[in-house]
Amino acid sequence: MCGVFGIFNHPEAANLSYLGLHALQHRGQESAGVVSCDKDTLHAVRKMGLVSDIFTERRLARLPGKLAIGHVRYTTSGGSLPKNIQPLTAEYREGAVAIAHNGNLVNAEQLRVELEADGAIFASNSDTEVIIQLLARRNDPDIVTRLRSALSRVRGAYSLVMIADGKLIAVRDPHGFRPLVLGRMKGQPDTYVVASETCAFDLIAAERIRDIEPGEILVIGGDEIRSVMVPRVARRACIFEHVYFARPDSSLDDVSVYNARIKMGRQLALESPVDADVVIPVPDSGVVAAMGYAHQSGLPFEMGLIRNHYVGRTFIEPKDSIRHFGVKLKLNPVPGLLTGKRVVVVDDSIVRGTTSNKIVKMLRDAGAAEIHVRVSSPPINGPCFYGIDTPNRDELVASRKSPDEVAKAIGADSVAHLSAEGLLASVGAGGDETYCTACFTGEYPLRITRQPPRRQLRLVEV
Ligand code: AMP
Repeated sequence: MCGVFGIFNHPEAANLSYLGLHALQHRGQESAGVVSCDKDTLHAVRKMGLVSDIFTERRLARLPGKLAIGHVRYTTSGGSLPKNIQPLTAEYREGAVAIAHNGNLVNAEQLRVELEADGAIFASNSDTEVIIQLLARRNDPDIVTRLRSALSRVRGAYSLVMIADGKLIAVRDPHGFRPLVLGRMKGQPDTYVVASETCAFDLIAAERIRDIEPGEILVIGGDEIRSVMVPRVARRACIFEHVYFARPDSSLDDVSVYNARIKMGRQLALESPVDADVVIPVPDSGVVAAMGYAHQSGLPFEMGLIRNHYVGRTFIEPKDSIRHFGVKLKLNPVPGLLTGKRVVVVDDSIVRGTTSNKIVKMLRDAGAAEIHVRVSSPPINGPCFYGIDTPNRDELVASRKSPDEVAKAIGADSVAHLSAEGLLASVGAGGDETYCTACFTGEYPLRITRQPPRRQLRLVEV
């Protein structure tokens, strides 16, 4: 769960990267960084915290050059430590490189052990550094061949933006797990931008050209823009980006997230109708699907729960005691609105079941006569190894309980999920558009290779 951004050939490259990261803040709130390239020097600002807190005017002024990349991070591999903040940078035989990565590599541990056996010294414990180490070991004359050879060893999810040889490089893994899109500044045809989501383009007045293809290495620099493709495998874009993670004002592989969520809600209403008085969303993640449910069912839509936007995501609080409290911090029912009503409450997903449990109690306390939970994704019963933060299988409520058992446990009158087929139809799957659905079908496109835990001394910066 990270966001990446890159810009080539703009005098305000760092400022625009800052704005781009702002639009991608939902993809990671732990740390952020921008690296700019001015002639032969890379300049970096990387800190823990939110984009708006990190990038003061003074810091941005220290990032000269017309080429920059940026990253927002939510840890899914390696620790939440300063040394892992991206973009990562390194200096090797060919000069300095910077790399920003969204996704998780499934064979990073194995490669790291091999590289360490060969004398490699790692400066971080992020899986991304493996790519730099592999790159530095290649002798091929040009960056594309070096990168291609290095990436041929790597398996997993990676949408990358890099600075190398004074060029902007964008790469998407052969399955295309995580999104990555190419654009250009309006009215400035030679100024290219790359981002995880199109919402970053809207903010800086850039226009989408096309998505980076799965298996594509795109090099923008000098006078050329060059695209190299590695052999194709089945496309496996993450369907959970559409369900939850991406912003609804983005399009992913040219599919509007908003439209997909509306269709999910409509389909959910067709599959699991309820005799009810009102449809309410769990804001913000359930809003668009709830609107779709209301459109299809003809039931009135109300904002029955109001969200306080000034608290962080409760999901990331590590302790259960805090998480329980967190839902109350974040959501509050509108007094009187739900009294005596039969309520359909729509959320995008149930993970541990903590949120829906608290919400049902909250709605009962608010006087709801019946509470029907409708979820715009199938039950999530497996972890993600490709970059979405889901807990281990035993913490996933759907791995232990059926929807009816969940309903009983949380005190809802009913719980129903969108079917896998219904979800796939909503995102327009079919033909070339195939998705990774591992978290609810158990069909993992790539298996993770784990190494036994190591007992060496580790460095933790405080
Ligand atoms: P839970 O309370 O564990 O069942 O989590 C479900 C809630 O968390 C839903 O409201 C989702 O919108 C949201 N959610 C789902 N997946 C994630 C994730 N990977 N990170 C943060 N929040 C999530």
